[in-house]
Amino acid sequence: MIRRVLPHDLGRGLLTRRPGTRRGGFSLGKVEDDRGHCGSGLSPTSDCVSFRTRNHGPHWQDNWDGKVSEIKKKIKSILPGRSCDLLQDTSHLPPEHSDVVIVGGGVLGLSVAYWLKKLESRRGAIRVLVVERDHTYSQASTGLSVGGICQQFSLPENIQLSLFSASFLRNINEYLAVVDAPPLDLRFSPSGYLLLASEKDAAAMESNVKVQRQVGAKISLMSPDQLRNKFPWINTEGVALASYGMEDEGWFDPWCLLQGLRRKVQSLGVLFCQGEVTRFVSSSQRMLTTDDKAVVLKRIHKVHVKMDCSLEYQPVECAIVVNAAGAWSAQIAALAGIGEGPPGTLQGTKLPVEPRKRQCKPCPHLSLQQEEPDPANLEVDHDFFQDNVWPHLALRIPAFETLKVQSAWAGYYDYNTFDQNGVVGPHPLVANMYFATGFSGHGLQQAPGVGRAVAEMILKGRFQTIDLSPFLFTRFYLGEKIQENNII
Ligand SMILES: Cc1cc2nc3c(=O)[nH]c(=O)nc-3n(C[C@H](O)[C@H](O)[C@H](O)COP(=O)(O)OP(=O)(O)OC[C@H]3O[C@@H](n4cnc5c(N)ncnc54)[C@H](O)[C@@H]3O)c2cc1C
Repeated sequence: MIRRVLPHDLGRGLLTRRPGTRRGGFSLGKVEDDRGHCGSGLSPTSDCVSFRTRNHGPHWQDNWDGKVSEIKKKIKSILPGRSCDLLQDTSHLPPEHSDVVIVGGGVLGLSVAYWLKKLESRRGAIRVLVVERDHTYSQASTGLSVGGICQQFSLPENIQLSLFSASFLRNINEYLAVVDAPPLDLRFSPSGYLLLASEKDAAAMESNVKVQRQVGAKISLMSPDQLRNKFPWINTEGVALASYGMEDEGWFDPWCLLQGLRRKVQSLGVLFCQGEVTRFVSSSQRMLTTDDKAVVLKRIHKVHVKMDCSLEYQPVECAIVVNAAGAWSAQIAALAGIGEGPPGTLQGTKLPVEPRKRQCKPCPHLSLQQEEPDPANLEVDHDFFQDNVWPHLALRIPAFETLKVQSAWAGYYDYNTFDQNGVVGPHPLVANMYFATGFSGHGLQQAPGVGRAVAEMILKGRFQTIDLSPFLFTRFYLGEKIQENNII
């Protein structure tokens, strides 16, 4: 705890917690052990610390107060980060209890928080805490995404999610309005996605469009002649068929959606805490399945949140944990013991989500087979664009010969290595951990529908509006891939 943050000499004899509080309330005082020796006053076995002080004269008190303020100044100058009185102010700590703890304050975590409050039976019925380790969102996928929304998926569930999101985004100020706050401007620019298929892929495109239309998306199919008429600047060589979104496709500002959700959920009473989830405290129970296989069921009781700029942590008791940690969600699953078991068993099945680096230039998406870039950093590989992307762009759209790159950035996909689709709903063995992750390249546009689905599952025990049962975790163990053919 906090003692570990301090250089040895400073920690000794100074920091105690007020008896009976686990939530901070640190106070400075001279601490003596039963033999009258000075000591840290921190019990090694308990978070709550008891101490005794002796009654000394006023001169001693002055001296001591002077020393204390000197030491406080010294501590402030040593601790990194912004200036705040870490020794007295506990407002940065999360609450001791919350019904739901959401790990990750990106678009998916916030959407779950929003729908939990929206669907709760009465105002204030559930306490929701969002834990986000980086409030600048410097590496979060949400802020680094392109902000595209498209309906041209091959799976009905993905199409339904994106159709719902389109209507959510169009009516954003009905959903996310906050009294006395200015309306949100998502800067939605409607523009259809144009997908091109060669002879080999034409039949698959046709069947995808059939599904898209059945679910309600407005997509047109074009022959090469029709394509040339509509977009005369495209070279149609090698194109057998094209599909084009007529409605509900385009681009919007991801940062605006994130901030709008944040503002709204705060107004609904959701608590935020800047800290990192580092540990779960759970209980386990051995059970036999109907086919006599032994499994261990776990239940998380507490989430340890390590506070920003320190090694201090706060345990938060909770009933439910939502894993919305994006590209890092497999680490959160591992903290809960998910995947710790013999290979090939449900117990030994890991969450197959990992960070995959993706680079963006503000120009059309182009699907290219590429070797996975090293995810260790988010530096842009400019040569990759020059050598691999630009030639294809210029071939398809000759005007792009003169293209100049003005800006570029990279971010992490929350990449599901199993089937590139989202993971939604509870874990079968850690029954109070729910997932909202793994959406690979389409988590931003699907966040409104996914948040609602997870909240339905938590509050009602089933998906009520869009049935996302194909996205449950169990598929990884059963080996049942739900392949989405149109991940961009
Ligand atoms: C370059 C790029 C382009 C993209 N383009 C699109 C697009 O056009 N359309 C689309 O729909 N999607 C797109 N995506 C995908 C989309 O951005 C993601 O699927 C989506 O943002 C995921 O949201 P999230 O909330 O799960 O993740 P994030 O936004 O990454 O949020 C997860 C948060 O969890 C926090 N966290 C992690 N571990 C901990 C911990 N232990 N304790 C506390 N907090 C923790 C992180 O700090 C992070 O802020 C793109 C992604 C990239 C990288």
